[in-house]
Amino acid sequence: MQTNNGETKKILIVGGGTAGWMAANLFAKKLINKGFEISLLESSDIPTVGVGEGSTPYIKRFFDALDIEESEWMSACCATYKGGITFADWSTIPGHTSYFHPFLSSVDGECFNVFRQVTTLRHHGYEVNAHPNDYFLQTELVKQKRLPLSLDKQKSDTIYAYHFDASKLGEYLKKHAASLGVKHIVDSVTQVKLAPSGDISHVETKKNGLVEADIFVDCTGFSALLIQKTLGVPFTIFKDNLYNDAAVAIPSAPKSQYSPQTVATAMSNGWRWDIPLTTRNGNGYVYSSDFQSADDAEAELRRSLGDSILTDASARHIKMRVGRTTKHWHKNCVAIGLSQGFIEPLEATALHIVQLSIEQFIEQYEKGDYSPKYQGFYNDGVNLVFEHIRDYIVLHYLTNSRQNSNYWLACRNDIKISDSLQAIMEVWCQGGDLDAELKRQQITQYYSSMSWHVLLSGVGVFPSGAAKQLQKHAAADDALKQIRQQLKEHARFFPINEGIFNQAVV
Ligand SMILES: Cc1cc2nc3c(=O)[nH]c(=O)nc-3n(C[C@H](O)[C@H](O)[C@H](O)COP(=O)(O)OP(=O)(O)OC[C@H]3O[C@@H](n4cnc5c(N)ncnc54)[C@H](O)[C@@H]3O)c2cc1C
Repeated sequence: MQTNNGETKKILIVGGGTAGWMAANLFAKKLINKGFEISLLESSDIPTVGVGEGSTPYIKRFFDALDIEESEWMSACCATYKGGITFADWSTIPGHTSYFHPFLSSVDGECFNVFRQVTTLRHHGYEVNAHPNDYFLQTELVKQKRLPLSLDKQKSDTIYAYHFDASKLGEYLKKHAASLGVKHIVDSVTQVKLAPSGDISHVETKKNGLVEADIFVDCTGFSALLIQKTLGVPFTIFKDNLYNDAAVAIPSAPKSQYSPQTVATAMSNGWRWDIPLTTRNGNGYVYSSDFQSADDAEAELRRSLGDSILTDASARHIKMRVGRTTKHWHKNCVAIGLSQGFIEPLEATALHIVQLSIEQFIEQYEKGDYSPKYQGFYNDGVNLVFEHIRDYIVLHYLTNSRQNSNYWLACRNDIKISDSLQAIMEVWCQGGDLDAELKRQQITQYYSSMSWHVLLSGVGVFPSGAAKQLQKHAAADDALKQIRQQLKEHARFFPINEGIFNQAVV
């Protein structure tokens, strides 16, 4: 991307939450040396959302792009490693009340082949162990409280993600952005003004008067001040697909030896996250306000945390706007973060979408400058990311077998599902070829075949005829024995987490 006629082009990011600071850093790293000026304007009166402590492995690429070492940012942000997510109590099917959704490892190709064959056998009525917890290296590492940091990458390796303190990450990224040359303005936007072309011409602020730019990045969180309130881009809500619209978060005491995973436990009207940080444990209950009041949700979360709640900890209540904007890039404005949409935090995908949106924006802009064709590619691409991640998250609710509340019954029976998800469920429930269906839909770049198999088998959803005449299958039992042995051997290449404070040292 080059600026026209060597002139400086100004990018103004409005909002200093995690999305704003991630954007500031990546734009600065990639564009300042190409003649761009990057500024970030944030209000000291409007707080950030203050949550968002889990991630996907994709975020590693963000820190790598900025040449930031783990040992540096992790200690500053009280971060821990994450090898995947345990889903507890989403299913009541015996043997399937909990399962682990692992991030990939170098031995998973072989292990997944066996697991896939075993699920097919299970579909055809064989009594085989089709629970994912026995087939993947990260699951073994989490069981043994080993960190996903290979001591011998040639022999065995894994990808992994992190948990971190959201406000500390914001502070860290703020300092880093300054070192890259980002201008920081602390002020509140009072009005956003349009030029006759319909582009944003400038914002009016409380203290600094008018601030002009060529490109405006809306990182104003759920308020979506630029993209929605000013430019009027319509918002598609996911309320028919996902019922949760509120959360309450309460920290608790840190665990002395953490297991490198997020735990997502089903509650009466939603689920709660359990995220280990070095200085505290992050907890939050994500629920539907149609089914439970904020007070009841807080009381239920407090009960489940018991004595571990820190004495000075107060509860933070958050309303969530679940859905996405129909266009993420419109006129000279691109929305990044909660302003562009939010699915819900079950698979911790929001910052993944933030990062992808920034990277794709730079790429498409570089290819086509302001041309509508490239804006169209960008918007279609980001919309697909939202839709397909949403579908995978909807599947957790759809396949629940909990009986104890109207909420869970509604999730199972009333939730609306996309044609894509409908087709996947039909193939699986008829014992068909799930891989072929995922390939036909070209959607494995959003969630891999392994993730779909793990979820469906993890909660114990198999074709209805599959349980009727269960027979043993000696070859599958032998293959499982071999996999268990192999995983134990591979696990030795990963260090045991001796305590919470030494985890970033290896
Ligand atoms: C309950 C919950 C749990 C979550 N868990 C996860 C998770 O595990 N993993 C994950 O990836 N994501 C998670 N997320 C999402 C994640 O928190 C957000 O994607 C992330 O924090 C980015 O938020 P943001 O920067 O878009 O918005 P915010 O943090 O809300 O920041 C908005 C910024 O805009 C500024 N602003 C607003 N209006 C004005 C104005 N008029 N003038 C100037 N400045 C203004 C504010 O001051 C603030 O700086 C979760 C979200 C929720 C609600």
